[in-house]
Amino acid sequence: MLEILRNIVQEVNSAENLAQALEIIVVRVRDAMGTEVCTVYMRDPASGRFVFQATDGLNKDLLGQASLAAGEGLVGRVAEREEPLNLERAPAHPSFRLLPGIGEEDFSAFLGVPIIHQREVLGVLVVQQREQRRFDESEEAFLVTMSAQLAAVIVHVRVTGAVYLGKDEARPPVPTKINGIAGAPGIAIGTAVVVSPVADLYAVPSRQTHDRLGELRAFKKALQAVRGDIEIVASQLGSQLNPEEHALFDVYLRILDDATIGTEVASRIKGGEWAQGALSQVMIEHIQHFERMEQSYLKERAVDVKDLGTRVLAYLQSTEQGQPDYPDATILVGEELTATVLGEIPREKLVGIISVRGSGNSHVAILARAMGVPTVMGAVDLPYTKLEDQELIIDGYYGEVYLNPDEDFRKRFEDMRAEDAALSHDLESLRDEVCETLDKHRMPLWVNTGLMADVARSLDQGAEGVGLYRTEVPFLLRECFPIEEEQRQIYRSQLEAFAPKPVTMRTLDIGGDKSLPYFPIEEENPFLGWRGIRVTLDHPEIFLAQIRAMIKASEGLDNLRIMLPMICNVAEVDEAIEFIHRAHSEVLDEGSAVKLPPIGVMVEVPAAVYQARVLARKVDFLSVGSNDLTQYLLAVDRNNARVAGLYHTFHPAVLHALQAVADAAHLEGKQVSICGELAGNPAAAVLLLAMGYDVLSMNATNLTKVKKAVRNVTLEQAKNALSAVMQLDSARQIEEYLQQFLLDSGLQGFIHPRLD
Ligand code: PEP
Ligand code: MG
Repeated sequence: MLEILRNIVQEVNSAENLAQALEIIVVRVRDAMGTEVCTVYMRDPASGRFVFQATDGLNKDLLGQASLAAGEGLVGRVAEREEPLNLERAPAHPSFRLLPGIGEEDFSAFLGVPIIHQREVLGVLVVQQREQRRFDESEEAFLVTMSAQLAAVIVHVRVTGAVYLGKDEARPPVPTKINGIAGAPGIAIGTAVVVSPVADLYAVPSRQTHDRLGELRAFKKALQAVRGDIEIVASQLGSQLNPEEHALFDVYLRILDDATIGTEVASRIKGGEWAQGALSQVMIEHIQHFERMEQSYLKERAVDVKDLGTRVLAYLQSTEQGQPDYPDATILVGEELTATVLGEIPREKLVGIISVRGSGNSHVAILARAMGVPTVMGAVDLPYTKLEDQELIIDGYYGEVYLNPDEDFRKRFEDMRAEDAALSHDLESLRDEVCETLDKHRMPLWVNTGLMADVARSLDQGAEGVGLYRTEVPFLLRECFPIEEEQRQIYRSQLEAFAPKPVTMRTLDIGGDKSLPYFPIEEENPFLGWRGIRVTLDHPEIFLAQIRAMIKASEGLDNLRIMLPMICNVAEVDEAIEFIHRAHSEVLDEGSAVKLPPIGVMVEVPAAVYQARVLARKVDFLSVGSNDLTQYLLAVDRNNARVAGLYHTFHPAVLHALQAVADAAHLEGKQVSICGELAGNPAAAVLLLAMGYDVLSMNATNLTKVKKAVRNVTLEQAKNALSAVMQLDSARQIEEYLQQFLLDSGLQGFIHPRLD
């Protein structure tokens, strides 16, 4: 059963458009279930009606014409109730409504299941039979499972179809929207450049070439190289192999010699596709062909074809010439973009980012916000490999991507982009103003940094210090751990740039979604695993070198503060402090006269909230990492697009925790700051001010926005807003309240209406 299911899903996945996909579904499901009819009704977004869209067994002449409203007929009932309907005698059911001409009069047994994707009913999948019988449990289970799996595939294929239509001049482009998650605010209009991981056949973008002969030559050379490799390995292993194993190498060579594969790839290259794209498309088709075979021996050949395809691809990639040519307004698109990729593209050419995986609080998104680049994360339905050179629009406020927009629509986005630019221009005038409320209550605004590029931007925006320097960023951009002296130089430039303003350096925080290429951490549950302080306490050599580098770097400047991430018990703090004292005395022994820097703890897990007071007693300051704190309080993976809708930054539990931490720190007479993304939200900043936070640390991009919000209120107004919000039960109510609050405070520029 599982096998049949997998085969159908795979086949549907390779369809080029929705019509083809639905045709495969009806034929294959009818066949697998042995019924006389299988039909798909798809919901038309404009009318909301369920249209008779594909069938095997009923009258195809009425496809696309007959339809039912939600709630109308059995199909409408399945859609409305969002659950299966299994009937022995369909015509006897009170909801039965005959669609004239489609030919279902003769069928008695009816099983309909909704096709649901992300809570939205896309359509209804129906099987029917003449015989008067009830479908049994296993049949019902099969159809429900089938439909659940097909939903995502249907959405994917629908978008892929739109991409093809956009490239086909004979047919008008279809405007298409893909939902993702807001990553970094702003509107971007630009050209897609697809970034793919190396040697992954499934991630190669389709790209047109201007040098067909060159590509053809490269392909033949790569093929020859792989053939040579296999012959060498086979002869080296020679006598160590038994005849069966030897036969495998023969199979490999035969596949490579196969005139079909070579000719197919060559003909695609001659048609204008670059060698990597042509290879991947042909190989994937052959892999799918083998995977669909009944015989297990033949099925296994799929693995061989994949392996060979990957080898040829690796050769092609190794001889690829340098960097791609980035268009002036580049939108980077990839399955899982990394900090490294962002570093490779010239900043002035990058206008937007789309990542198929990840969520609004993934570190790539945080980096993008710091760089001020509109970003959409978790666009899981995006057929990203097909997007090269397409014009795209990104709405980074709502996390939406638009393909083939019409003129009118594009114009609205252009206007919004212009309004944003005007607002930023207005905000620039605040750069040198003090951040204080109307009644002169000071609120220091610091920045979060990681890249050297952040420094100039931060100072330019009037930052008063650094509340979080993510030291893992320079670690991420290297190929091995930087040695102590190299680190010292990196830290020195941060400290010097801001001196005498304070710079809070966080000790290495890897794990979770931040793994170093040269120090992979593979775990089932990385956010609950070996992360942050847990890694560095287990590796004193890494920890001590980093602390020594920081302390040495601060010589003569004395503006360093050290902060410990992911603390969840006092022992971790005690141990870390001991290491810091040891590193400090080693630096003194080497002859440098440096002060011991203030030490702080990040409050990022619920345990630290409940122990905030005892933690505060042990250190000089507390800083709340609200990104992680929200994830752990709400049990919502900050990186998982599927649960992003549950990641409520204004959840009452989060706000109450924030208040508790501020109170605990102050009871111990210690400074408390916040360095999670929440601090950069103008409405949240007003609440944090009222809670008594001493410092707000944020992305440089948000600094003047927050300053504007603070300068627009009195402390009393902020406190009133806080006490009102603390009475509310849900994040939605709190968000609504705050929107109104921004409007009442004359800050409507911070509210972005949805444009579609
Ligand atoms: C946080 O968790 O809020 C934080 C500031 O740290 P990071 O986002 O780097 O995990
Ligand atoms: Mg964190």
